[in-house]
This record gives sequence, structure tokens and C-alpha cells, in this order.
Amino acid sequence: MTNTPKTIAVIGAGMAGLTCAAQLAEAGYAPVLFDKGRGPGGRMAARRAEVGGETVSFDHGAQVLTAETPEFAAQLSAWEAAGAAALWPAAGEGAYVGTPGMNGPIRVMAQALDVRWGVRIEKLQRDGDVWLLGHDGGEARFDHVICAIPAEQASVLLSDAAPEYADKAKGIISTPCWALMAAFDAALDLPDTVEGNETDAVHWAARNSAKPQRAGPECWVIHASADFSRQILEHSKDGAANALLDAFAQQTGVSLPDPIHTAAHRWLYASPQVGEDAVRHLWNADAAIGVCGDWLHGPRAENAFLSGRALAAAILY
Ligand SMILES: Cc1cc2nc3c(=O)[nH]c(=O)nc-3n(C[C@H](O)[C@H](O)[C@H](O)COP(=O)(O)OP(=O)(O)OC[C@H]3O[C@@H](n4cnc5c(N)ncnc54)[C@H](O)[C@@H]3O)c2cc1C
Repeated sequence: MTNTPKTIAVIGAGMAGLTCAAQLAEAGYAPVLFDKGRGPGGRMAARRAEVGGETVSFDHGAQVLTAETPEFAAQLSAWEAAGAAALWPAAGEGAYVGTPGMNGPIRVMAQALDVRWGVRIEKLQRDGDVWLLGHDGGEARFDHVICAIPAEQASVLLSDAAPEYADKAKGIISTPCWALMAAFDAALDLPDTVEGNETDAVHWAARNSAKPQRAGPECWVIHASADFSRQILEHSKDGAANALLDAFAQQTGVSLPDPIHTAAHRWLYASPQVGEDAVRHLWNADAAIGVCGDWLHGPRAENAFLSGRALAAAILY
């Protein structure tokens, strides 16, 4: 470790920010993470709901974790050993899900670190030799800063602090995804996962209640395709839920019973369209600012993990 910084802040405690922070902590740093969310998840979130007197949890963001690299495969095994992930063969060979919810791995990483939940960083500026982070509860100063938030949000936060990085983020377009969480009082006559083809309105649906360590009634998560999500982008939550239920029934040919619970969530920046010039991470040692996230590498959790690791390696070099 060269020039050990006194303090280091990570903005965003999703897969990328936490992975980076974990590596830095292992090397002796004491990173402080800030996340606007109320709890661990980011786009690997799980949403609780009361259904028929029971508390159930829906994975309304990322659905499965798969590894294309030995690094992520080893990490998945480590999370499995820690009880934070399990194989789910219904989604294919080698497909994992977080346990007891998709945010299991995020929760485990966050527990080992200093994460300040519910803090949205609204201002980032250089103040002499340090970085000034502004939020609605005040200000904080750090020697180094890492930005680990989606491209559309990074482009705004970095516009004064690191205009070149902000421009790079501005060049990324993320596709939206409307997600429907629905529960029924009877099992649907469908396999545990349903995949749409390129022209279908429903891109993916999964029987959430069939995933390992989920209990309770028949629960489904249904994701609209990017095209269909754009078509219904400005619908109300109820309107989007109805549109997705109709599309799902039509696509599967199943006559759906009336759901006993529905909730819809709109992911405006679900999936970044990453170009050929993906760089994995950004790091400016002189200015002590770095950037990581799936938008620098690819639209999957594994890419966010690899981006976070690459940035940590660059800082520790
Ligand atoms: C609907 C959907 C389905 C998906 N399906 C899959 C899948 O099946 N498999 C897969 O591998 N991947 C999937 N993904 C992608 C995967 O979830 C992401 O690639 C990964 O979670 C990105 O991690 P990240 O750390 O880069 O970003 P995020 O998870 O978005 O984390 C960024 C964090 O920054 C916080 N934040 C943002 N702005 C601020 C601010 N100003 N101040 C403080 N905090 C801030 C947010 O609250 C968030 O927690 C899916 C994503 C979505 C939305």
C-alpha cells in the first residue's frame, strides 16, 4: 500500500461499492460507505410484503447470479458457505440466488463494513486536499472518494468533481424495467421460470416462492422487456401491474386467478448498455477519485463485482 490515505468514502453500497470497500478493508483501510437506500440491496434488492397474514419477500431486481470468471465463481461459493446464497437449478446449471433474499450477499458484505444507510450524497467537491461530501444531514470530508452509483446518477454527481468521468457516464444509456410482484392463492400451472423471446412483452418471470429458503404463498416476479417497459413507462403502479398481468397471461396462455397481492416497481436504470470500450473502472490517483459499477463493465452483478475489485486493485497498486 503506497501513501495510505487517512480516510476513504464510497458513495453507493451495491455490489460494486461493497466489493471495492471489502477489498480495501482487507488491505487495512477503513472505508465509510454512504447509500441512499434504507437497507442493503441496490439493484439486488428484496421487497417485503404482508400477504394473507404472512410476511413474504420478493426479489424484484436481479434474479440469478451466474459466474463466467473463476473470481466470481469463488465468491459465489464463499457466499454459499456463509449462508448468503444457494444454487437454484430451476434457473439453469450453476445459477445461484441470494438467501434468504436476493440481497443476501449484499447484506453479508455490508455487515462487515461501516455503511451509513439512508444517506444520499448530493454534492461532491474538492476542498483543498480533501473531498467534501454533502448530504441533507450535513457534510463530511475524506481524503479519497469512490463513486459506485448508476451511470445516470454518477453523471450528475460527478459533473463538477470529475467532468471527464461525468462525460463518460453521460454516454451510457440504461434500459428501464417494470417489475411486477404478484401472489396467488393457488399454484400457477407453469414451470418455476418463464423466459420470453426478443419480441415478448415479458422478458422473464420466476416463481419467487420456489427459490431456496423462501416460504409462504405462491409468489411471482414478472419483468417486462425493455421495449414493453418503455411503452408503459409513465403508467401508474396499478396500471403497470395490470398491463404486466395481462401480458403474462397472454404470453403463457394460462388463465390467471385473481391475485391476492400485487405491487409494481419501476427500475428506471435497470440495465446499462455498455459499449465495446468498457474500461472496468476509473481511477485518478492524483485527484484521489475512483469510479466503479456495472455500467463500466457489463449489465450483470458479476460485472459490478469485477469492476469493484478492479478499482480496489488500482488503488492498492
Ligand atoms: C430488474 C433487474 C433485473 C436484473 N437481473 C439480473 C440478473 O438476473 N443477474 C445479474 O447478474 N444481474 C441482474 N441485474 C443487474 C444487477 O442487479 C446489477 O448489475 C448490479 O446489482 C449492479 O451493482 P452496482 O453496485 O453497480 O449498482 P447498484 O446495485 O445500483 O448499487 C448502487 C447503489 O448506489 C446507491 N446510490 C445511488 N445514488 C446515490 C447517492 N447519490 N448517494 C448515496 N447512494 C446512492 C443506490 O441506493 C444503490 O444501493 C438486474 C437488474 C435489474 C434492475
